[in-house]
Amino acid sequence: MWELQCLQIEKDSMIDITKIRNDFPILSREVYGKPLVYLDNAATTQKPKCVVDKIEQMYYTLNANIHRGVHFLSQQATDEHEAARVTIQKFIGAKSSDEIVFTRGATESINLIASTYCRAFCQPGDEIIVSAMEHHSNIVPWQLQEEISGVKLRVIPINDAGELLIEEFKKLINPRTKLVSVTHISNALGTVNDIEEIIRIAHENNVPVLIDAAQSVQHVALDVQKLDCDFLVFSAHKAYGPTGIGILYGKEEWLNKLPPYHGGGEMIASVSFEKTTFNVLPFKFEAGTPDFVGSTSMAAALDYISDIGLDNIAAYEDELLAYATEQLLTIDGLKIYGTAANKCSVVSFLVKDIHHYDMGMLLDKMGIAVRTGHHCTQPLMDRLKVDGTVRASFSFYNTKEEIDQLVAGIERVASMF
Ligand code: PMP
Repeated sequence: MWELQCLQIEKDSMIDITKIRNDFPILSREVYGKPLVYLDNAATTQKPKCVVDKIEQMYYTLNANIHRGVHFLSQQATDEHEAARVTIQKFIGAKSSDEIVFTRGATESINLIASTYCRAFCQPGDEIIVSAMEHHSNIVPWQLQEEISGVKLRVIPINDAGELLIEEFKKLINPRTKLVSVTHISNALGTVNDIEEIIRIAHENNVPVLIDAAQSVQHVALDVQKLDCDFLVFSAHKAYGPTGIGILYGKEEWLNKLPPYHGGGEMIASVSFEKTTFNVLPFKFEAGTPDFVGSTSMAAALDYISDIGLDNIAAYEDELLAYATEQLLTIDGLKIYGTAANKCSVVSFLVKDIHHYDMGMLLDKMGIAVRTGHHCTQPLMDRLKVDGTVRASFSFYNTKEEIDQLVAGIERVASMF
């Protein structure tokens, strides 16, 4: 029966699940003597062979420091690194590759904007709007700026389903609002926010918008020009790429107006003790030796998901989410946190009064990897009046059979309490 359903999904959504799972060697390993069921994709995704092959190829055949070398290896590595930037530009539909800044990840990208934007454009008492469902990485950098620049955080509230209250958002905007910084998809609830509407409202009031796409770039096709967002950030490791690298997209006119963030090599035009001048975009924001292994293997990951097709990925993952939601709700006493009308790839839940940590630990012993705790969204957990949840998050390499195993595992744990 399951095989039939899976084939049906495969047929409808063009996902070749057997081939895809073969691309991810880790998926065939066992933990505690049981087949691994990896449902922690919102924390990080597994890596296909082509990404690891690219890392190996770079170190074995192309390892040389880039941009400054005149020798063959350095120039070839530079070409690959800059070609990766163009791949990423095209992947998110940016106008120019100068708008693609390599950072260490979504967190560093947000810190970069918080620090440079507040330094350049904010006065004490100015306001930054975030939402109640933000990851700590889109809260704490702004709180640091509360101390440094005197800005104040304002928070868009949510309803009990975990949806942003757009009317409340409108009321928060005022002449002191300097930036809106919101997540596209909630890592804790799976809510897909209506960022088109948020951007439209903010722009009507001449306020720029930063989109945290850490949980969306791997699930839905994005086009920053159509969206018209001013900044967008994401991490490679959540999109099947390597850890330690990510992207800050910024409209050229904004990036040109912002001061540098880190100082060092690469980001300068000339240095003297009297006066230092800075490099052009995007290098102005890329101090130090660039992570050319990270950039090129990240591009390999984005090419991989582009080949599968983001529309195919979205359709398949939506089907998995619908199936998981339906099956989980058959479990006595299970409550889902986050019931927004528009959701993606994440189910957060608790079962009766079983602690999320106990549930996670016991599922782990059955080979099922889920996340437990506050998911770096403590203010959201406070709003939901829980100290944490169990979170299962899905990728296009997961199957309905794995969801059945999750459901059976939860039932087994529930029967122990
Ligand atoms: N934003 C969201 C919505 C996230 O889920 C995460 C990671 N969990 C981040 C930002 C931060 O990403 P990273 O730790 O890769 O910098």
